[in-house]
Amino acid sequence: MDNKLILAKEALEKNGFKVMFFDEVDKMKETLLEKIELDKSIAFGGSMTLKEIGLYKDLKDRGNEIYWHWKAKDGQAELKAARDADIYISSTNALTLDGKLVNMDGVGNRVASMFYGHERVYIIVGRNKLTKDLKEARDRIKNIAGPKNAQRLDVDTPCKFTGKCNDCDSPDRICKVEVIIHKNTTGPNINIFLVNEDLGY
Ligand code: SF4
Repeated sequence: MDNKLILAKEALEKNGFKVMFFDEVDKMKETLLEKIELDKSIAFGGSMTLKEIGLYKDLKDRGNEIYWHWKAKDGQAELKAARDADIYISSTNALTLDGKLVNMDGVGNRVASMFYGHERVYIIVGRNKLTKDLKEARDRIKNIAGPKNAQRLDVDTPCKFTGKCNDCDSPDRICKVEVIIHKNTTGPNINIFLVNEDLGY
């Protein structure tokens, strides 16, 4: 296991999270599918990691009730249904070496569901999301994930054009809410699956 991933795993466990480590994404998916019962409803956060690994199709094909606004014709209705799902699955924008999950969001549905409203949460994290500390996590979000998401969403923000954040006042700003999860909560059980591959951005 990569040294940084070992440090992150130890820090996350110290912070009360349940952590599993995987060398390959396929093994991670196999384990996740085993852990999720067929009678559980599931919601997905907006996540390029989830899109890349094809988990939605795996769960849907085997019969789980699943909600993902990226796949729905009526995104608002899907978001509403997603609030009541038993299980929430997402990635994180950044994970610090001292075991904190750092995220920014435009709407806030994803970051809220990571710690509230569901019985269980799974966060899938590729090695590219590791950052030294909170400062580096914010820098990663503002200057890597933010601009790429702005381009993907085709919103009217400066970072879409420059690839860099200038803390804009655009109505389209995609990082309006910042959430740092310092410790596992007393609400949903947050499970973190670390993968030794680059996933999403
Ligand atoms: S604050 Fe504005 S410029 Fe900076 S990353 Fe967010 S949307 Fe882009």
